[in-house]
Amino acid sequence: MVCAETIVERLRAQGERLTVQRQWVIEALCASGEHLTVQQVQQLLAERSPALTETTVYRILQWLKERGVVAQTDLGQSGVVYQIIDREPHHHLVCLSCGQIVELDDDLMEGLRARLRQRYDFEPRIDHMAIFGLCRACRERGSDTD
Ligand SMILES: [Zn+2]
Ligand SMILES: [Zn+2]
Repeated sequence: MVCAETIVERLRAQGERLTVQRQWVIEALCASGEHLTVQQVQQLLAERSPALTETTVYRILQWLKERGVVAQTDLGQSGVVYQIIDREPHHHLVCLSCGQIVELDDDLMEGLRARLRQRYDFEPRIDHMAIFGLCRACRERGSDTD
């Protein structure tokens, strides 16, 4: 896991302005090391900074996303989550029926990245992707979802 200090230094070196609130959000994400929703980040920081609203946290997360620090992923029933982009990224399979989430290794994405570069001359940022579908249990239960 990348630590908060490294990220803050990297952004400073790029000439970015790091407010205290931006640093707190980075620290919260690093300390947790997990996927966090906007609400969870806000709650983690509520004690330190009661004035920090979900709207502000959301804006800071978007700012970090634009700078390639944070990945934003829609995990379906679990909501939209944010996570620090790691040197060893992972991805997810998400079942549309039961909401089960399985972790995927990044090596599966290498072929896709290579093809996107070749065929579309596009440098993809596949940092933390969710692939939706149906798990085996749900398929065997039949497609009786509503
Ligand atoms: Zn994940
Ligand atoms: Zn399922």
